[in-house]
Amino acid sequence: MTFQDLGLSEPIVRAVSAEGYETATPIQEQAIPHLLEGRDLLGCAQTGTGKTAAFALPILHRLNATPLGKGRGRRIRALVLSPTRELASQITQSIRIYGKNTPIRQTTIYGGVNQHAQVRAIRQGVDILVATPGRLLDLINQGFIDLRAIETFVLDEADRMFDMGFLPDLRRIISYLPADRQTVMFSATMPSAVEQLATAILREPVQIRLATKTSTNHLIEQQICFVPQNHKIDVLTQFLQDESIGSAVVFTRTKNGADKVVKRLLDSNVQAKAIHGDKSQNTRERALASFKQNRTKVLVATDVASRGIDVSGISHVFNFDLPEEPESYVHRIGRTGRAGATGVAISFCSGHERRHLREIERFIKKSIPVHPEYNAQRMAEYMAEMDDRGMGGGPRRPHARSPRRPHAMESLQQDRPQTMERKFKKKPGHVRSEAMDSRPGKKRRRSFSLARSSD
Ligand code: AMP
Repeated sequence: MTFQDLGLSEPIVRAVSAEGYETATPIQEQAIPHLLEGRDLLGCAQTGTGKTAAFALPILHRLNATPLGKGRGRRIRALVLSPTRELASQITQSIRIYGKNTPIRQTTIYGGVNQHAQVRAIRQGVDILVATPGRLLDLINQGFIDLRAIETFVLDEADRMFDMGFLPDLRRIISYLPADRQTVMFSATMPSAVEQLATAILREPVQIRLATKTSTNHLIEQQICFVPQNHKIDVLTQFLQDESIGSAVVFTRTKNGADKVVKRLLDSNVQAKAIHGDKSQNTRERALASFKQNRTKVLVATDVASRGIDVSGISHVFNFDLPEEPESYVHRIGRTGRAGATGVAISFCSGHERRHLREIERFIKKSIPVHPEYNAQRMAEYMAEMDDRGMGGGPRRPHARSPRRPHAMESLQQDRPQTMERKFKKKPGHVRSEAMDSRPGKKRRRSFSLARSSD
C-alpha cells in the first residue's frame, strides 16, 4: 500500500518518497489509518519495522492540518518518550526528514549533555518534543517545559523503559499530561508490567501485534561457540584479527565487560570503541560516527545502548555474552544482514549460559549450528586440561612473566568443600573475604557441570 493510499497529506507523502520509501511497511499500514483518526494504539513491534514513521507521519499530518502557533507562541503538542539518547536523536532525525515540507518544528532533549542548547531550542518554540524521561522531568521541574497542550503522547520501547527503571519517572510525566490526549505505546515485548501500564494509560486502544520476530533472517549465518567465560576474550580477539571481518558489533552483558573487551582488542591492535550508558553523549556519538565511517572496526555495546545503532554494512555480530532475553538475540543479530546483505552472527556460550541458549533456540524454533572448532566437547576437554594444570579453566597465558598464581576463585574451584573449611580454619579472615567476593559455592558447582558437559 502506498503512503497516499493511507490518507497522508501531500507534503508528507512527498518527503517519504524522497527518502525512497515506496510502500508502507506492515506496521505502518496497520497503524497509520487509526492514528490519523485519533485512536490510541498499542503496538508490539521492534526497531527495524518502520515504527518511527508509523507514529511520526500521522502526528505530522494532524499537526499540519491545524494552525501552528507562531515563534515562541508555539506550544508542545506532541511528546515522544524514548529510553535512550541514541534512539531519541534518531527519532528526531526521522521526524525532521518526514516533516521537511511542513513548517513543523521539533527538538530532542536528553541527559548527559549541557542543557543550555536544549532550553534555547524549547524557548524558540517547538511542536514536537522527543525526550528521554530523566532530562524531561528535570526541565519540567525547572519550569522550562509545559506539557499541558500535548495532543499526542508516544511511549516508545516501553519494555526498555521498565528495564532501565524509568517507571517512577514515567508515572510523574504522565501525571503532567492532559487527560484528553491520544496515546501511542510501542514495545518490542509485552511483559505483564508493560501490559498493566498500557491498561492504565490507553483508552480502547487499537492493538497491533506484528508476529513477534521469532524468526531470524535467513541471510544471517549463525554459529555457537562453546567457550569458557574466561577464554572468551582470547577467542574473540582471534576472530577479530581476521582481515576478512569488515565491521563488527560485539554485545556484552555489562558496561564494565564492554570496557574490558575494548581494552583487550586495542592491546591486540584491533580498533574498537565502547558504547554504553556510562559514556557521555558526546563520546557515544563520536564512537558511532567513527564506526559508521569505518575508522573503527569494532563497536562493543550493551543491549540498552545498542537500540540506537542503525548502521548498514555490519558484516559480523558477536554475542560475547548470550542475552538473557531470547528476543534480544533476534534483535542483536538483526544488526547484520540488513537490506538483503549477508551477515554472520557468532555467539559465545559458556557453561552457565547453556540455559539461555536453550531458551533462544526454543524461541527461534531452530538449533544454532555449533562452530566446528569450538564445540562443547572441546570446551569440556579444555576445562579438564586447565584443571589439571591447576588453572581452573582459565586460558594459558604464554607471556606471563612468572607462573600465574591462581585466582582465589580458581583455587576454590579445585578444592573440595572440606579443603575450603580447612583453609578457612587456617586463615579465617583471608579466605572469608575471598570466598564472599567470588561466591564460591555458586561458581564451583557451575564449573563442575561444565567440565562434564558434552554434546
Ligand atoms: P524504524 O523501525 O522506525 O527504526 O525504521 C527502520 C528503518 O526502516 C529506518 O532506516 C527507516 O528509514 C526505514 N523505513 C521505514 N519505513 C520504511 C518504508 N516504508 N520503506 C522503506 N524503508 C523504511
